[in-house]
Amino acid sequence: MPYNAVFLDKKKGGSRTHQGLDIYAEEGTLTYACVDGEITRVKKSSQEKLDYDEDDCNQYIVLKISQESLELFQKRRKKYEPLHSGEIIEGPSFDKSSNDLYLVYMHMRQIFVSVGQVVSSGQPIGTTGRTGVKYGNDIGTSGPHIHFEIKSKDTYHDGLTNRCNPSLYLDVEQYKIKYIKNEQGKQEKVIEIYDYNGSVSEIKRSNLDSNENLKKQKERKEKGNRTKQGKTKFEDE
Ligand SMILES: [Zn+2]
Repeated sequence: MPYNAVFLDKKKGGSRTHQGLDIYAEEGTLTYACVDGEITRVKKSSQEKLDYDEDDCNQYIVLKISQESLELFQKRRKKYEPLHSGEIIEGPSFDKSSNDLYLVYMHMRQIFVSVGQVVSSGQPIGTTGRTGVKYGNDIGTSGPHIHFEIKSKDTYHDGLTNRCNPSLYLDVEQYKIKYIKNEQGKQEKVIEIYDYNGSVSEIKRSNLDSNENLKKQKERKEKGNRTKQGKTKFEDE
């Protein structure tokens, strides 16, 4: 799955840090409980707010991992080397052996569960959406996605402190784009695709002719302008 923003990525020029992993998902994609657990928090917005796509209408779900599943989950932790500039492994107080581990799913369109409900791994809990993402997927994010977090305390507004990089536990395929100059001195675009273990599984290269170069520069400029106008609201809830 391609990523949009990684843990501690300062999103698109914003000053706040990003506290989860954005995983590409078309709006309306069924979302499942990753593990057995209990729903500890649900935030729903009024239909009115949703209709007007208001900034603070972020709908989300928090799932606490069941005690029986903890060991299995903790075993999933693997060695992960950050792939992107600024990305880190975990916040200073994240406790990987805590008995309380929480998964957070944000920007939901529909929510099928309620607080106190016990869910099993693989059970649908809602659908992905773009609630709480100002102006849909235009500003603040680069595409439709689900924002996913792993925390060892169910706290909010405390930055990265109790959170870890979800890539430590998830099997997410990532990619990295680089622009290099080849032997002929021409600009080349290199896409490195990383497999679940963090090793490069494929490299795609393409020459950029002068038109593409101009297009790329133009896109970057436009992106910069967009950032100045918008603010990202959904990073900390
Ligand atoms: Zn996010």
